[in-house]
Amino acid sequence: MQYKTDITEGKVLCHLCDLLQDSKETTCSQCGEELHQRFTNSLAQTWGYVLAATLFLIPANLLPMMVVTALGNQDGSTIMEGVIYFFAHAEYALGAVIFIASVAVPIFKLSVIYYLLMVVQFKQRKKALGALKLFHIIHIIGKWSMLDIFVVAMMVSMVQFQGLATIETGGAAIAFCAAVIFTIIASEKFDPRLLFDEEIIKKEEEK
Ligand SMILES: [Zn+2]
Repeated sequence: MQYKTDITEGKVLCHLCDLLQDSKETTCSQCGEELHQRFTNSLAQTWGYVLAATLFLIPANLLPMMVVTALGNQDGSTIMEGVIYFFAHAEYALGAVIFIASVAVPIFKLSVIYYLLMVVQFKQRKKALGALKLFHIIHIIGKWSMLDIFVVAMMVSMVQFQGLATIETGGAAIAFCAAVIFTIIASEKFDPRLLFDEEIIKKEEEK
């Protein structure tokens, strides 16, 4: 299966003014911007950020997300302990939001990015269109990634307002933020046009 791309058609699109021109050109004839057919080092950078995000997910799930001090006792709970706590106390909506935002979505996004990288690396062009749809989905849900941090912040302020206990965010919150940010950068660095290319790495590194 061969797809028509700017490369096969001998064209290059200016990423600044969107003018389509001959791929022999190195700078845009309209705005003077340097022309690239693909993001520079897209694959290497996507791999780097997705691996960093995966590493940060480990402390994000093992360290406490919240540290609660009540009546002089200090108690920390991880993301999953928090989810289990809310389900056990019949707070299903809150438990579900935390589970979706901090467990299901991050794992889904990382899995999709790994899948995209595999489709490109192993030149699985039959899977290119399906992979592109998944890429589109993770872009749509990208804006909800920080939801969990808002939930934690909301609970901290709620509980402190009621004076029940002091709640502080634990180390997991920082690791989780790092994982979310690295996942966003990984998906930004990925060039979806690579999915449709015949020759991948050579063209990508071409300046
Ligand atoms: Zn231009």
